Amino acid sequence: MRPVCLITGASAGIGAACALRAASDGYDVVVNYNSDHAGAEAVAQAATDAGARCLIVQADVADPDAITAMFDQIDSKFGHLDAVVNNAGIVGQTARITDLTHDRLRRLFDVNVIGAILVAKAAVERMEPAQQGVIINISSVSARLGSANMYIDYAATKGAIDTFTKGLADEVATSGIRVAGVAPGLIETDIHTKGGEPGRAARLGATAPMGRAGTAQEIANAVSWLMSGQASYVTGTILTVSGGR
Ligand code: NAP
Repeated sequence: MRPVCLITGASAGIGAACALRAASDGYDVVVNYNSDHAGAEAVAQAATDAGARCLIVQADVADPDAITAMFDQIDSKFGHLDAVVNNAGIVGQTARITDLTHDRLRRLFDVNVIGAILVAKAAVERMEPAQQGVIINISSVSARLGSANMYIDYAATKGAIDTFTKGLADEVATSGIRVAGVAPGLIETDIHTKGGEPGRAARLGATAPMGRAGTAQEIANAVSWLMSGQASYVTGTILTVSGGR
C-alpha cells in the first residue's frame, strides 16, 4: 500500500513541485488548490504519470467547512493519511504598516496560519490512531527577517507558523508523528507577481550569499528529505533553504 501525502496549494509553485516529488518518492497524492483548477489538473496528471494515485480537491484552506469536506474525501478515497505539506499561502501587495487593513490581515492570517493549523489538526486526528505520520509546514525566512517595507504582516504569519511547528512537534512527538518546517528564501514562483512585484525573486535573490533565487524544486528536495526515513530523528525544527539568506 502506497503512503498518502496531502499537499495544500499544489496547483502551482512550491506545492506543485512537492506534489510531483512526493509522487516520484512513492506517495499517492492529494492535490489541493483554491482557484487554479487547470494547474491542479496538470499537476495531478504529471503525478499520475509518475505512478501515483491522485485526488484533486478544491478547498479554500481559510474555510473550516471546506477543510472538513476535503478530509472526508481523503478518508473515502484512501482511508489513511501519512504525510501533509502545509504549503498553501498568500502574500499581500507591497505595503507599509500604515497601508494595512483589517480585511487584508484577516485574509492573510486565515489562509497562512489558521488554515495551516486546522489542516494539521485534521491530519493529527488521523495520524495519532495510526501512531505515525509527518507534517511539514512551509514557513519563510521572512519570519526571521521581518520583511520591512514589503509585507510585515505576511512575515508575522510565518513567525506564527514557526512557533506552531515547534509546539505541535512537541505535542505529538510520542505519537509517532514528526513535525518540521521549511523556510524558503526567495524562490522563483508566481507568488511575487501575485503580490504585485514580478521581479522580486530575481532582484532580491541576487543579494543572497549564493547570488541567486532558488527554485521550487530545491524546496521540494528539502521537503522530501524531511518526509523520509532519513530524517527519522528530526522534529520541531525549521530547515532554512535560502542560498544563505
Ligand atoms: P504560488 O506559486 O503563488 O502558489 C501558491 C499555491 O497556494 C497555489 O497552488 C494556490 O492555489 C494555493 N493557495 C493560495 N491560497 C489558497 C487557499 N486559500 N486555499 C488553498 N490553496 C491556496 O506560491 P509559492 O511561492 O509556491 O508559495 C508556496 C508557499 O511557500 C507559501 O506558503 C509561501 O508563503 C511560501 N514561501 C514562498 C516563497 C517564495 O519566494 N516563493 C518564499 C518563502 C515562503 P490556487 O492558485 O489554486 O488558488
